[in-house]
Amino acid sequence: MPRLVSHPDEIKLVSRRFGMGATNIDRYLELGGYEAVKKCLAQGPEWIVEEMKASGLRGRGGAGFSAGMKWSFVPKQSAKPKYILVNGDESEPGTCKDHLIFLHDPHAVIEGTIIAGLAVGAKMGFIYLRGEYRYLLEIMERAVADAYDRGYLGKNIFGSGNEFQIITQTGAGAYEVGEESALMESLEGKRGVPRIKPPFPAVVGLYGGPTVINNAETIATVPQVITMGAQAYAALGTPRNGGTRLFCISGHVERPGVYELPMGYNLKKMIYEVAGGIRGGRKLKAVVPGGSSTPVLLPEEIDIGMDFDQVGKAGSMLGSGGVVVIDDQTCIVEFALRTISFYAHESCGWCIPCREGTDWLKKSLTRFHAGFGTDADIGNMQYLAENMLGRTFCPLGDAAAMPTIAFLKKFRKEFEDHLNGTPCPFAREGVPQLTVV
Ligand code: SF4
Repeated sequence: MPRLVSHPDEIKLVSRRFGMGATNIDRYLELGGYEAVKKCLAQGPEWIVEEMKASGLRGRGGAGFSAGMKWSFVPKQSAKPKYILVNGDESEPGTCKDHLIFLHDPHAVIEGTIIAGLAVGAKMGFIYLRGEYRYLLEIMERAVADAYDRGYLGKNIFGSGNEFQIITQTGAGAYEVGEESALMESLEGKRGVPRIKPPFPAVVGLYGGPTVINNAETIATVPQVITMGAQAYAALGTPRNGGTRLFCISGHVERPGVYELPMGYNLKKMIYEVAGGIRGGRKLKAVVPGGSSTPVLLPEEIDIGMDFDQVGKAGSMLGSGGVVVIDDQTCIVEFALRTISFYAHESCGWCIPCREGTDWLKKSLTRFHAGFGTDADIGNMQYLAENMLGRTFCPLGDAAAMPTIAFLKKFRKEFEDHLNGTPCPFAREGVPQLTVV
């Protein structure tokens, strides 16, 4: 379970109520809760959407799409009901931030969901937690029940005449369901495989109605944006990357944990100052900057600001904010194998490049790491990964291909060192295993 940490450079907005007993609705109210939704009721839908656009808040699930723009795509008139869907299917290895939000501040998720509903004219929201977070469902359900008791949810929220209902739901433990259309399939009680797009969910989504799907952190940020004002929120970050975000720093650092830092915060500083540097005084070997699907960065590539644009320019992605730090005693071939094993296990099997590609990569890397690789393997794995890229129905194929390509390119020598029966140079006793918080 991620521990609560703190650093002076943090700007605590989404995390400001962590550890303060805000699961209790009275405590949440004491700490300023449900004021943002009252402000939104007074201002109206257009104002909310414009505030969200101006805030520069981009989706915290990984894609980084503007939340305000997404909301603006929902048609004003619709014959079918509109829905808000909170994506709490947090499954990307290295990422554990939504978990803390559900655990410490469930009413922030409820408040953000109500605001999203007011903005687009939806009367129903769903909060979907990953299957492994079933123990958090109780916390969320209690919070939802308390909000109904107070009249914050129901047919006449806050006495305004507006209706908004919330239903909570858990998945069955599939990473793939974090993809928005697969999430809708799962919620409808079907197998969690993606839908072909277009149409996009904003037009044809859950049960065929226009649907806004936002990550749990994005939704929990919404009341903060409304409370402090879009301009003030945007000013905390960098251009086109407003505000703060929860960075999950794990791996070989002295102080792993979830830290809320301004968008654009320097990655090197994040590792060496915020997280206390490399564990045991060892050397840095590599950093995965945004969850396991993002291409690895070398030590000389990490003097960059952590926002969607700067990390993209450095050849990787900000993704879900899961920063995994790898020290110089870690075998990159084994790291690649662990990464691919995850995606091979989680592939839903619908499309061939992903189903076959991840499995063959896993088999090749297993053999390679065991010292039975051949010269041809490196080129074959690269060819395989490159041919998966962009050729699958959903991003899981890319999520497996992108890190593989980067590992092979940036650590080719280490792959070559494993060839022809050479034992893994890192496979010796006393080498600490990589830990992910
Ligand atoms: Fe399923 Fe993989 Fe294809 Fe996504 S890319 S639809 S997970 S087989």
